[in-house]
Amino acid sequence: MKRISFEDGLIYSFRPELASVATVQSGETMEFVCQDSCGGLIRSEKDTLDRLDFNRVNGATGPVQVADSRPGDVLRIRIKQIQVAREGFLSILPKAGVLGDDVPEPKTKMVPLDGDVAVFSKGVRLPIRPHVGTIGVAPRDKEWTTFYPGDHGGNLDTKEISQGHAVYLPVFQPGAQLAMGDIHALMADGEVCVTGIEIAGRVRVQVDVLRGPSLHRPVVETPKEWMALASAPTLDEAARLATRDGVDLLSRGAKLPWEDAYMLASIACDLRISQAVDPWRTAKLVIPKTLMRHLPA
Ligand code: CA
Ligand code: CA
Repeated sequence: MKRISFEDGLIYSFRPELASVATVQSGETMEFVCQDSCGGLIRSEKDTLDRLDFNRVNGATGPVQVADSRPGDVLRIRIKQIQVAREGFLSILPKAGVLGDDVPEPKTKMVPLDGDVAVFSKGVRLPIRPHVGTIGVAPRDKEWTTFYPGDHGGNLDTKEISQGHAVYLPVFQPGAQLAMGDIHALMADGEVCVTGIEIAGRVRVQVDVLRGPSLHRPVVETPKEWMALASAPTLDEAARLATRDGVDLLSRGAKLPWEDAYMLASIACDLRISQAVDPWRTAKLVIPKTLMRHLPA
């Protein structure tokens, strides 16, 4: 199995021209070794976000070229396994996060893991559910720093991009150019304080090039649901785009007139927030697989 590390390739922006550091075939399984989102610079509670050079934050390991993928294809990335380090951290910063105006000063909290349990405090121990915060491909036409989520993926901070699930990304450039990083041991919808439990780790994925479905934006698949993800400068706009994409998928996938799919979504598909804290915001419309078995062509 191929393994690439942040020491082999690390990017701080997704851009149309990305030079790959490795190549995989469709169907191949490989591993990405990732730093935590702060490049390993936060090692104790004395290390706070205000001390970091933000040009060196949120690096993504890669990019990896996927052989024979072309613009118009869809890349399916099945997350087979995420292994995380023994300790992660949460960190807050004035002016960052949903309540950034209320944060008086930067603060970091180290969060050790006890096996698969995050020890937030003596009394608060939570089972971890690791996910990949940043995962993306070379975009269509402009450069996006890895802080941004977008149609190319990027900083989606969507907790369901986790073991046993899959993310589908549109391919905009030959070879797709997949990169990922920003692993979280645990995060809730919204990522309200601006960090999850940021942690280093290894992500094992199986990558497939699909020529059937056509997508404009990322989709996540869980055993029971499809999630249409959309990112935009405001949550309102992200919610509108996610709903429009999700209703369109449902209309085509369940062979329903658009008006019926729209009404069905209103009673069966939750509109949720992935993250409300990145430079662009990400929302998701969640479609139960009982309504739509397959992604439509
Ligand atoms: Ca993130
Ligand atoms: Ca993060």
